[in-house]
Amino acid sequence: MNWYSTNGKAPLATLKKSVIKGLAEDRGLYMPCELKRLPAEFFAEMDKMSFQEIAFTAASAFFGEDVPAEDLRRIVNETLSFDCPIVPVEDGICSLELFHGPTLAFKDVGARFMARLLQYFTCGESRRLNVLVATSGDTGSAVANGFLGVEGIHVYVLYPKSKVSPIQECQFTTLGKNITALEIDGVFDDCQALVKNAFMDAELNEKMRLTSANSINVARFLPQSFYYFWGYAQMKRMGLADNLVVCVPSGNFGNICSALFAAKMGLPIQRFIAANNRNDVFYNYLQTGRYEPKASVQTLANAMDVGDPSNFARVYELYGKDYEAIRRSISGAVVSDGTIRRTIRDCYRQTGYLLDPHGACGYRALKDSLQPGETGFFCETAHPAKFKDTVDCILAEEAGLPSSGRIGASAEVADGKVVIPARLAAFMQGKAEKTPLSKHYEEFKNYLIQQR
Ligand SMILES: *Cc1c(COP(=O)(O)O)cnc(C)c1O
Repeated sequence: MNWYSTNGKAPLATLKKSVIKGLAEDRGLYMPCELKRLPAEFFAEMDKMSFQEIAFTAASAFFGEDVPAEDLRRIVNETLSFDCPIVPVEDGICSLELFHGPTLAFKDVGARFMARLLQYFTCGESRRLNVLVATSGDTGSAVANGFLGVEGIHVYVLYPKSKVSPIQECQFTTLGKNITALEIDGVFDDCQALVKNAFMDAELNEKMRLTSANSINVARFLPQSFYYFWGYAQMKRMGLADNLVVCVPSGNFGNICSALFAAKMGLPIQRFIAANNRNDVFYNYLQTGRYEPKASVQTLANAMDVGDPSNFARVYELYGKDYEAIRRSISGAVVSDGTIRRTIRDCYRQTGYLLDPHGACGYRALKDSLQPGETGFFCETAHPAKFKDTVDCILAEEAGLPSSGRIGASAEVADGKVVIPARLAAFMQGKAEKTPLSKHYEEFKNYLIQQR
């Protein structure tokens, strides 16, 4: 199957080209030329299928013409080697927990799938493929862990010195093998500028094979649709899928966009909610019909601090550039830091379920909008321990909260504090290795050339 660009000025691309290039020549985002509707029997039988089987069916619709079934099945099974449970929080509201992968955030699935698909496409080629990724925290850890140990591919993670949390930093500095952490003396924008310059540098691209792993890549964002097929199947199993509302805490809109793809393929979801923090560009679009990007503002749900969501172009395209059609299927919500705090406390007090700041936006928006007769799930996109300082602080602000509670099915709050799961603690034991670099492009380029 071919892929076209949302800007409409680039040639059609094969899957291999769109995955290796990431962005089209006209700087548009790749979209599939055809979106297959899945058969009614699939939706009727889903509640009896495993996560891996469901995901394989969805993956075949996107990638099945280009990747033989047995390879695709292996890629899917290796990607989804962890669970993604749905947890009832209160009457009619469930949490779809997307944080059971290696770095405890939902980006693991996209990163792992993309690593394996790239490996499939480049296997047997003699030149090493180098992935450059700039990160403000979460993306770097997901990509580094997704690509860890993948042969023929080396990953450089560029991150701003002293601007990522210690937990985030150790998730990409302690891995070794084919992962190199570059600590840039600058801010996130400097890291991103270095990566962009490298991609545009003809001399460098001749010397080494470079690719990006950012969230606009089709191999990273489309596999996230597996979550929604699976979430629906689990709700159906509980008899809660008849009038189903899905709420996605959103930043760059990659995650919700994959859910909208699932709906276009026939998944019977009644409507969607895009939950935002104070970064309200999409919310304003829904009110006014005008898309007006702005500078991002910092919030407690910092993985959603995005002022110009890159996947808006895909949402717009998916609905035929029709504002009314978008409004019919998606509503918006803006959740302030004050409301995030109150929501984490109230939900914990009333249900014993502990949210992270991103999931709190999702829960709040869903709870405020759910109508009689509807049921819904929101995505819990990160484990609360990834934001331990924030969450512990919020819990401590109110006296009399229960001192223990649950995250997911098991009790993971003790003495009023989030317990760090073993998987996360293990990263913190590892030996950190990083290469310090300035924010000057020539230094970065010379460094890369020496590494070949
Ligand atoms: C990346 C991220 C989001 C936002 O997802 P988008 O696909 O960018 O909309 C939400 N929560 C967490 C924890 C994230 O890491």
